Amino acid sequence: MIHLSAPDVTEAEEAAIVRAVRSGWIAPLGPEVDAFERELADYVGRPYAVALSSGTAALHLGLLLAGVRPGDVVLCSSMTFAATANAVVYTGARPFFVDADSSGNLNPDLLARAFDEAAANGWRVGAVVPVDLLGHVVDHDRIDRIVTAHGVPMLCDAAESLGARYGGRSAAAFGELAAVSFNGNKVMTTSGGGALLLNDKESADRIRYLATQARQPAKHYEHTEIGYNYRLSNLLAALGRAQLSRLDGMIERRRRLKLRYLDLLGDRPGVRFLGQPEDEVGETRDNYWLTSLVIDPALAGFSADDIAEVLRANEVEARPLWKPLHLQPVFADAPAVIDGTSEALFERGLTLPSGSAITDEQVELIIGLIHGVVVDA
Ligand SMILES: *Cc1c(COP(=O)(O)O)cnc(C)c1O
Repeated sequence: MIHLSAPDVTEAEEAAIVRAVRSGWIAPLGPEVDAFERELADYVGRPYAVALSSGTAALHLGLLLAGVRPGDVVLCSSMTFAATANAVVYTGARPFFVDADSSGNLNPDLLARAFDEAAANGWRVGAVVPVDLLGHVVDHDRIDRIVTAHGVPMLCDAAESLGARYGGRSAAAFGELAAVSFNGNKVMTTSGGGALLLNDKESADRIRYLATQARQPAKHYEHTEIGYNYRLSNLLAALGRAQLSRLDGMIERRRRLKLRYLDLLGDRPGVRFLGQPEDEVGETRDNYWLTSLVIDPALAGFSADDIAEVLRANEVEARPLWKPLHLQPVFADAPAVIDGTSEALFERGLTLPSGSAITDEQVELIIGLIHGVVVDA
């Protein structure tokens, strides 16, 4: 089976794990965690990083640090993975879903409308959580202006966009806080893990405290608040350091794979690729986490399903885009500002294998299968 985005692991990762095991630091925390946090903060260009057990944990603690309280609403993209909204629910707040624009990212006009609706209903907006869908950074020029005008903290869900840039800055350098993920299918992995990127030491210390069961500095176990067990282990941090050192190379491999798909399908009528146009790569650039396209079957002569079926029949994974969260049964009662864009993207979207570990032979197989659908159309 060729997966959408399988882990890309080499001898460098193996050596890092062995190094960490032999050092004797098997327990959570240790020198690999400290080094990983420094290297990650440097890579992103932000003063502090705290390594955590998952991107979801990073979102959860980020929302708590931002001061989100039970009863608040948190404005977030509808077109995202459930983890974004799950983290909101963990705090006792409610997600308030905002529809996408044609890029798949949060629509700034609808975000402004959601603020108005929250005010009209007397709801306190605890935070805004924009999501960089598939590794394409949101429109920060417009979104940040709207969020700042309302005086609400912004926690960027950069789980899909580590390594992407916007106007020369890293995706995870925006907002008061940003969460990244090292889940097995992301651009880099610690097999499972995440991190919160922050601006000041006080906040970083507070996150470390909350993530280690909120233990007060005392000889015995003293607790004055509810804590969590959310730290990343030293072994996994070693894996993360090796992955981070290879991240730019892995992103370049993903970029080249997208270019192959563009060569084949980029000029087809009725086919549109998500993400930045390839002739505009510069200060703003995607991390190419997943290559996704939207197909209008009436114009293209084939549908997203036609391609997905042929791929799946040949053991190649292909999937729709995220099902918008306002359509998910578990969030049916959540408030939402919706104009139909994410639903249309979901109906016509297709995500192709995009991992950096895909071999050249596998690429040729996939391209050949898609080509077969296109020439028959
Ligand atoms: C993967 C992902 C997460 C969750 O990260 P985990 O490390 O799997 O907990 C959160 N938000 C988005 C948008 C994601 O894609």
